[in-house]
Amino acid sequence: MQVDVVIIGTGQAGVPLAARLAAAGRRVVIAERKALGGTCTNYGCTPTKTMVASAQAAHDARRSARLGVKAGPVRVDLAAVVDRKERIVRRWREGVGKRLHRHAPRLTLVRGHARFTGPRRVEVAGRSYEAGIVIVNVGARPAVPKVTGLERVPWLDNATIMELRRVPEHLLVLGGGYIGCEFAQMFRRFGARVTVVDRAERLLEMEEPESSAALAKAFRAEGIALATKTTADSVARSARGITLSLKGGRKVSGSHLLVAVGRRPNTDDLGADAAGIRLDAKGYIEVDERYRTSAEGVYAVGDCTPGPQFTHASWDDHRILFDLLQGHGSRTRDDRLIPITAFTDPQVARIGLTEREARARGHAPEVATMEFGEIARAVETDRTAGTLKILLDPKTERVLGASIVGAEAGELIHIFAPVMAAGLAARAMVDLEYVHPTFAEGVQSLVMSLPRYKIE
Ligand SMILES: Cc1cc2nc3c(=O)[nH]c(=O)nc-3n(C[C@H](O)[C@H](O)[C@H](O)COP(=O)(O)OP(=O)(O)OC[C@H]3O[C@@H](n4cnc5c(N)ncnc54)[C@H](O)[C@@H]3O)c2cc1C
Repeated sequence: MQVDVVIIGTGQAGVPLAARLAAAGRRVVIAERKALGGTCTNYGCTPTKTMVASAQAAHDARRSARLGVKAGPVRVDLAAVVDRKERIVRRWREGVGKRLHRHAPRLTLVRGHARFTGPRRVEVAGRSYEAGIVIVNVGARPAVPKVTGLERVPWLDNATIMELRRVPEHLLVLGGGYIGCEFAQMFRRFGARVTVVDRAERLLEMEEPESSAALAKAFRAEGIALATKTTADSVARSARGITLSLKGGRKVSGSHLLVAVGRRPNTDDLGADAAGIRLDAKGYIEVDERYRTSAEGVYAVGDCTPGPQFTHASWDDHRILFDLLQGHGSRTRDDRLIPITAFTDPQVARIGLTEREARARGHAPEVATMEFGEIARAVETDRTAGTLKILLDPKTERVLGASIVGAEAGELIHIFAPVMAAGLAARAMVDLEYVHPTFAEGVQSLVMSLPRYKIE
């Protein structure tokens, strides 16, 4: 069957692209082999942040006496937490279905595994589709590390851990990245003992060392055990449940094991060869700044391409590619700022470069740091954990990067975004009024702690 556009995957880019291209008059087929809405809706952002909110409620209830409020003992009903999560996920997923169906008959949703059988020819559910444009939005799935014995223990991934209806006695978390950290703290707050094992020297090793240190301090204060700079050589069932044998001979045992060591793209069963789509060494689809793959007329967006794996990045991919396909695009994949946030407590957020990245690119940045506890609102609300850091290019006065660990850091980081995107001097952030008392005042204080803006 001949159509204008085939889209593989209903991820964060695929769905809006399908809807908008159909609305623009093209005949579109979109294929999905699992749940509508992909990772973010079903196994990523939505369910985790819903459950993080329950974990935060438990934590706040336990700590309320610090603010003079006496509450009774806290008991987490994980089944109720999971049911709430499921209701919200279902609502979002149904929303995706409705959005796609609104554009019928120009837009057709086909359920099943899609595979290239030739250049711009895709087979799904026993039918073959040919199109002038094919867009690949197949996402990624958990990477499985090479740990001896892993295939013989019942380990959990980011999807299955959110199906548990009873709090584990002791959760071992392999991987101290964003996903591992969010689950580690969530389950600690649900009442589990938690041990995080990571091969890196510190949690969230991509982030500033100050950010990692602030998060580790908060984790330790909550009783989360950290085993960093070590790897798991093997894993086996034991009387305690599951035992990890770490490099150097140390063993850690727990009742459950979460594996969160990274992601791998869903490209191994895509028929990339048949289409002439080149993959990199890790299986990611190589694209240029306009999302073009090595196969003419085939584009790739989202987590299956190299680059930061975030919903907002994939969604932005859709905007840029839509404009390019409609012939009025000026932005490309390369000229954008992608803020990031780990939804731990305190949250860890960054925009732009880390100091290490800035220096590697030849910058000699002016640097200022500040403790989150210096912010009045942080003291008043008893949310003092965290730190802030800014990097300034001394020649242009532009912000090269900023990192915030603290309450609502994921919101605060956006204060930098328009300033950086517009190429303004950081002075623009100094000459503003910030509402007192807000966490945002701390961002102004951070900028004003750079020597050039300091006032006594
Ligand atoms: C636990 C967790 C928490 C996260 N939290 C956040 C967060 O807080 N904020 C954030 O920005 N990001 C977060 N992410 C990342 C975010 O979920 C992804 O970056 C986002 O979903 C973008 O995905 P995508 O559009 O590339 O594709 P996906 O959403 O992964 O969708 C790809 C779709 O393609 C389908 N598919 C694959 N192969 C085929 C095929 N051959 N045929 C048919 N269909 C196919 C898949 O079934 C899937 O539905 C999180 C991820 C995880 C795992």
